[in-house]
Amino acid sequence: DSRTKEIDQLHSIYKVDWGTVLGEGAFGRVYPAKHRDTGEKVALKKISKRYTNSTSFRSETDALLRIYENGGHPNILGLRDLYRDEKYYYLILDLVPGGEMFDHLIEYGSYSEDDASRLVQEILSALAFLHSIGITHADLKAENILLCEKKQGSETVKLIDFGCARSVLYHKGIATDEEIEDRIKSNPTPPMTHQLTEHLSPSAKDFIKSLMNPDPDQRLSAVAALRHSWIRGERTPTEKIL
Ligand code: ADP
Ligand code: MG
Repeated sequence: DSRTKEIDQLHSIYKVDWGTVLGEGAFGRVYPAKHRDTGEKVALKKISKRYTNSTSFRSETDALLRIYENGGHPNILGLRDLYRDEKYYYLILDLVPGGEMFDHLIEYGSYSEDDASRLVQEILSALAFLHSIGITHADLKAENILLCEKKQGSETVKLIDFGCARSVLYHKGIATDEEIEDRIKSNPTPPMTHQLTEHLSPSAKDFIKSLMNPDPDQRLSAVAALRHSWIRGERTPTEKIL
């Protein structure tokens, strides 16, 4: 690909801090780096060619490039540059310094419904954008949602990790892994136990239930979810106290 540059160029443009690992995933590690001229901080994701066949690398970079070509989105990680050597691919990405939502949830235990609703709204807006340009993320989880800053209550989040992303012909249905799709369809909707939901407002319960529907025709789309009363903050005063 003409957009992939050789590794020598990377080192002349960026200074990589190989001693600090920002995060680790299935295919590679992520390191902090700095632009030598501007001093701007970025993240470098190093992906071993051994662990990723060209198809999965392509899906990640293709998705990030398509996002870039479509103007990007405030809640989606931006790709800045792409390098390679014989063994690895190197993706230069925006640095998102606040850590994973996963760790944040473990540290703070929970979010208020108002905070959660705002964060979910940001994620849904990212997903609606992806779907509108024919991309399905396919690996949405708290490890792949990063906080722009580590400050509870006012964070902005960015969706990362397009290693499982697929191109979709959206109106023709999503081209997913058949085995995974069968497993999802054959499982009943997970029960919403009283213990899990007793503290939630009725509209939060309805929102979760609508998203957990295993039938894709019945399940809320990202666009429809953005219109749900729980996201629009149209909870009644009583619900807000709950
Ligand atoms: P994998 O595809 O191997 O799962 P990810 O893209 O999810 O790799 O990155 C692994 C981890 O590295 C993330 O969960 C996160 O903690 C960290 N990370 C990834 N991208 C960034 C970034 N742009 N800024 C800061 N940390 C990042
Ligand atoms: Mg990941």
